[in-house]
Amino acid sequence: MFRERFDASLENIRMSPIVSISEEVRRRSREFEKSGRSMIRFQRGEIDFSTPQFIISAAKEGLDRGLTKYPKSGGEDFLKQSILRKLEREQGVNDLSPDNIVVTYGGQEGLELSFKLFSNGAGFSPTWSCALENFVPYAGLDFTEIPLKDDFSVDYERLEANVRGKDFFYLNNPQNPTGKVFDKGELKTIVDICTRNGCYIISDEAYEKFVYDGLEHRSTIQYCQENIIAIFTMSKSFSMTGWRIGYVVTRNKRIAQLLRLGNYTQTAGVTTFLQYAAAKALDDQANADRAIGEMKAEFAKRRDALYSGLERLPGIRLSKPEGAFYMFPNFTEVIPPHVRGKQREKYIYELLMQQGIATVYGSCFGRHFVDNVRLSFSATPVDQIEEAIGRFEQIFSKRSAA
Ligand code: PMP
Repeated sequence: MFRERFDASLENIRMSPIVSISEEVRRRSREFEKSGRSMIRFQRGEIDFSTPQFIISAAKEGLDRGLTKYPKSGGEDFLKQSILRKLEREQGVNDLSPDNIVVTYGGQEGLELSFKLFSNGAGFSPTWSCALENFVPYAGLDFTEIPLKDDFSVDYERLEANVRGKDFFYLNNPQNPTGKVFDKGELKTIVDICTRNGCYIISDEAYEKFVYDGLEHRSTIQYCQENIIAIFTMSKSFSMTGWRIGYVVTRNKRIAQLLRLGNYTQTAGVTTFLQYAAAKALDDQANADRAIGEMKAEFAKRRDALYSGLERLPGIRLSKPEGAFYMFPNFTEVIPPHVRGKQREKYIYELLMQQGIATVYGSCFGRHFVDNVRLSFSATPVDQIEEAIGRFEQIFSKRSAA
């Protein structure tokens, strides 16, 4: 009697398999732990550091100051000023004003609203699963996946051919799930290709603070162009995933205005006292540098332990992540050729799970990388990584000897 299908923008969203994987990990951990060993978790992008105390204190101070009323649409001026200072200090950008900024509920809302501006787009494959499973159907978009090469470098001809006629290109730098950092030259070429094809760039910079080996994050906002929509978040940089606060920066004031309207319509703006805490996080450089430095040093250690352990194993092809906290090894050489289709998608995932190693299978990040799995080292300490390497050795040395 009542309608059973609802608007396509919601009906077509698929819940990320990463959520169901986490449920499966919980269930299988109980089984696995009966053998006296623990499940080693590499499946989630959650960070095992707490939000720094100075930010928590600032949120309390915000409450005490009475910042409990409706927020200003698109963000409070004090936070926008902090963001402008940050952009000048870190990226040398000084031609922007508060009108170029929209404060959002995490990077997620900034991305979702930006995707909604358009009717078709493209992005590299592999790509963050949420872009494919949530933003694309929610915005009702056509989306073209452009595969990176095996070493995650860019095939520029393919990029040019595929962005032609597209409204936007989604770029995630540093990248989830590969840990790839697009360097200055790559970034410039990508931006040039998009620009000469009349294409906007939705630039997801969620992992801006996690680049290793002395590299520096270069934001696309450094390019003085109206086709750039840069999305930032407090979630990863300050381990504030549950606070839900981020911001969009664009020189295109028409776009900023539309995003502000979208943000107002959806949520009427981000919780006022949290904006106060976010401003403190950006302004208190000494505390921020200390907190970020500590996380970054720990992630670098974990990355090194994971990389040097896996690098030695036969049949696993991997690139050392330069940023973020993910590794995306490929197992083509160890998957028997007769294993195909759905069975192939989960082959390595299942093999690892049986040894108590939880990962995410590559097809969650697009259809071109089914022989990969993603390992997140955001919440796996080095001793557990070493234990995991021992288990990898058992699985893969045995297989190559056979
Ligand atoms: N971009 C990428 C690539 C991500 O992995 C994430 C979160 N995992 C986000 C954006 C958004 O994070 P948040 O909404 O917490 O800011």
